[in-house]
Amino acid sequence: MKPRDRLRIAMQKSGRLTEPALDLLKRCGLTFRQSRDKLFCFGEGEPVDLLLVRDDDIPGLIAQGVCDLGIVGRNVLDEFRLAAGREAEPLTELRPLGFGRCRLSIAVPQESDYREPRQLAGLRIATSYPGLLGEWLRTQGVDAGVVTLAGSVEIAPRLGTADAICDLVQSGGTLVANQLREADVLLESEAVLAGPQALPADERGDMLELLLKRLDGVIQVRESRLLLLQASRGALDAITRLLPGGPQPTLLPVAGQPDQLMLQALCAGEVSWRQLEEIKRAGAREMFVLPVEKMLA
Ligand code: ATP
Ligand code: ZN
Repeated sequence: MKPRDRLRIAMQKSGRLTEPALDLLKRCGLTFRQSRDKLFCFGEGEPVDLLLVRDDDIPGLIAQGVCDLGIVGRNVLDEFRLAAGREAEPLTELRPLGFGRCRLSIAVPQESDYREPRQLAGLRIATSYPGLLGEWLRTQGVDAGVVTLAGSVEIAPRLGTADAICDLVQSGGTLVANQLREADVLLESEAVLAGPQALPADERGDMLELLLKRLDGVIQVRESRLLLLQASRGALDAITRLLPGGPQPTLLPVAGQPDQLMLQALCAGEVSWRQLEEIKRAGAREMFVLPVEKMLA
């Protein structure tokens, strides 16, 4: 294969991961020229291009070296690793991305008395994830039949082609509509950045390093809030104890009021009204909670 000097990221062309993945890349400062109905999008500012494909093809494209990175569900990545064996060895999960959350679960008919995996012995379980299901059954020491289906797994019990299913669940609505209930969770999944264990030792490696730093910043600030408030020096200890997690707050003098300070704190998550009211009772005033747009540590 011809050596490349631009980083190439595979992502889902059209589906649940498409919009959030594009949004994340945009927040990392990446913009693309080609229209989205094309397979290939050329990166404008940075040497990073996109390949838009079916999500199932993403791990294989990275393993073959056609792409350097991919944004894909952990469910798809882990299934590929189990099915591809040695071919998938260099592939790893570089970062969890915090969207596309779902679970790979066993679901049984609502009237089933399922309490533990042992009860699956001898049953037929329909799934599109034979690798992950097979591995879970092995670790549970359960001998069950695996019926591999490409789609519409949830109707298999009603059709009589399976006794239970192993499928992705988010809200559980699809299960209820098919008179099934979630019985056991095999895998907690979300979209991840998949890539090689080792960075390529060229410009692509440098770009990947830069991209990972930006990603870390974006992921960290996505939930972060900046809390600003004023308080007298005497109240500071009590207030600091109430602050939701984050690095040490910064203290600034308030002009003309030597006893007053302004406090600036980065909070790791949402700051609730309740928390604000408590901090106010401890002596704070002029409080502001601001979203954080960019952060570079
Ligand atoms: P493609 O045409 O790319 O093969 P698809 O139908 O396999 O699309 P989607 O349904 O868009 O894919 O799901 C993509 C990913 O979204 C899944 O692999 C999973 O990681 C995640 N996901 C989150 N919630 C759900 C859900 N309720 N059902 C299915 N996938 C979900
Ligand atoms: Zn798919």
